[in-house]
Amino acid sequence: MLKDTYCGDLRPADAGRTVRLAGWVHRRRDHGGLIFLDLRDSHGVVQVVFNPDEPESHAVAHRARTEWCLAVEGVVRERLPETVNLNMTTGQVEVTPLRAAVVNESPTPPFYVNEPVEVDEQLRLAYRYLDLRRPEVAAVIRLRHEVVRFIRDFLSARGFVEIETPTLIKSTPEGARDFLVPARTKPGQFFALPQSPQILKELLMVAGFEKYFQLARCYRDEDFRANRVAEHTQLDLEMSFVDEADVMALVEELYTGIANEFAPGRLAASPFPVLDYADCMARYGVDRPDLRYGLEFVDVGEAVRSSAFQVFAGALAAGGEVKAIRVPGQASMTRREIDELTAVARGGGAKGLATIAFLAGGEVRSPIAKFLTDEEMSGLRARTGAGEGDLLLLVADGPAVVAQSLYLVRDELGTRLGLKDADVLSFAWVTGFPLLEWRPEEGRWDATHNPFSGFVERDRPLLDSDPERVVARQYDLTLNGSEVGGGSVRLNNRADQEKVLGLMGYTRAQMEERFGVILRALEYGAPPMGGVGAGIDRLLMSLTGTENIRDVIAFPKASSGLDPLMGAPSPVDPEQLRELGLELSPAARAALED
Ligand code: ASP
Repeated sequence: MLKDTYCGDLRPADAGRTVRLAGWVHRRRDHGGLIFLDLRDSHGVVQVVFNPDEPESHAVAHRARTEWCLAVEGVVRERLPETVNLNMTTGQVEVTPLRAAVVNESPTPPFYVNEPVEVDEQLRLAYRYLDLRRPEVAAVIRLRHEVVRFIRDFLSARGFVEIETPTLIKSTPEGARDFLVPARTKPGQFFALPQSPQILKELLMVAGFEKYFQLARCYRDEDFRANRVAEHTQLDLEMSFVDEADVMALVEELYTGIANEFAPGRLAASPFPVLDYADCMARYGVDRPDLRYGLEFVDVGEAVRSSAFQVFAGALAAGGEVKAIRVPGQASMTRREIDELTAVARGGGAKGLATIAFLAGGEVRSPIAKFLTDEEMSGLRARTGAGEGDLLLLVADGPAVVAQSLYLVRDELGTRLGLKDADVLSFAWVTGFPLLEWRPEEGRWDATHNPFSGFVERDRPLLDSDPERVVARQYDLTLNGSEVGGGSVRLNNRADQEKVLGLMGYTRAQMEERFGVILRALEYGAPPMGGVGAGIDRLLMSLTGTENIRDVIAFPKASSGLDPLMGAPSPVDPEQLRELGLELSPAARAALED
């Protein structure tokens, strides 16, 4: 090895040792005579002091520039007390070189590697190998490794077997568009990249492994949305002979362990709260509520049911709702802030946002107060608990619009009022989801999660009479307002699986074509089984407190979905297309020429 010691490891106990170091020039300070080089490697940075009395090594330091790769052999010395730098982990020592050599030069990097400055994303990603030299960027990737290792150790210790499943497969639907790979040897036919290993892990349970896991790459060809990436890594696991509680307990123990190890003291609640889907929608308008703060919705319909105020009474008469958020201490919110929140509510479909501010001395400021009786007003106060200094925000509309618009308002308030404490990890389970939802435009039922989720036995008769009311054996794990995992106890016999696929509108022939493998396998003594798919990227984002998914992935796509590093996607040779039996459409050719 060119080196026998890591720069970042040196401590006072090493004083007097001769060490061979190699790394990159992090900073260089030329004091005319002495040259100070901070040498950086994967363990950290140490100061090397080049003295003109040693002309050979001094000449190397004289030439060297930031980000050059150097090798240095030298003696570790304790620094004089007045030169100790407690901001550096190696700040009590420095190295006096005996020999130094340039391993490789470097042009001036396109951005500072040695300072945590904001750099344009395109540029960072195009030079990701330099971006990853920045210690704070690399630290997240290292943490990811530690978390993944923790997961592997945890599951291996509990008898799970890590099994890789193929990535060139036939479509396994998770509700997204497939990435397709043309098959050269079967012109006109395609592999699909897995949206998840769902079918394969069920086959592993049929095969008798009983406990499987994998850190699986999953591909979903979705249009860009903030913090969605086309390929993500999920902890995928499956167990046999379990029910919901068994899988949830295991996952909770794992995540609690991760939080205690990597984010001590940051867990908001243990055990994790379990919310029922309907209740969750009623209180937060979303199935992945951010529980770091309150601002729950209150149904105030009863207080205004017979109101002369048509906006409320009309919505209720049409089967809608009137719901409020009480914002403590925000009665003095400005007109402008309220206008902005109203725009947010409109974004969720609401026609407006009614406000009532309870000012000091019993004064009420509200554009709608004149339409409400004293009794209605005190009903609103009683139901919401609004007191002096509080602001009530109200929406009246159909349940879906009320949920969506107040969800957006609550989310915005969470941000504006600084309630989203990045230091808090607030996990919750959501259960009790409907199995199916109606797709009016397609005239069929669709799985709310995936077509393999089981249903609660009690609801079996409803499959024929009222499919919408069938409850799935599904559980989602949420963290700080994001879904970080989901899973279910599966359908484990052919008849039930066919029944659900039938409701989803598949004909026998389509079932055979798309799901034949799992339908057949379920005939061969399939065990009860359940599992989970949990996003590793999202988890890392919360652990590190970043809002940007690209921070936790070594080589992410840019927010455009494209890869500025490799320059992908890219056109291919006509010859490759010919081999694959593919031809570009005129539209694709025109787009290429643009
Ligand atoms: N296959 C599911 C998903 O990828 C996870 C699961 O149900 O285990 O979302």
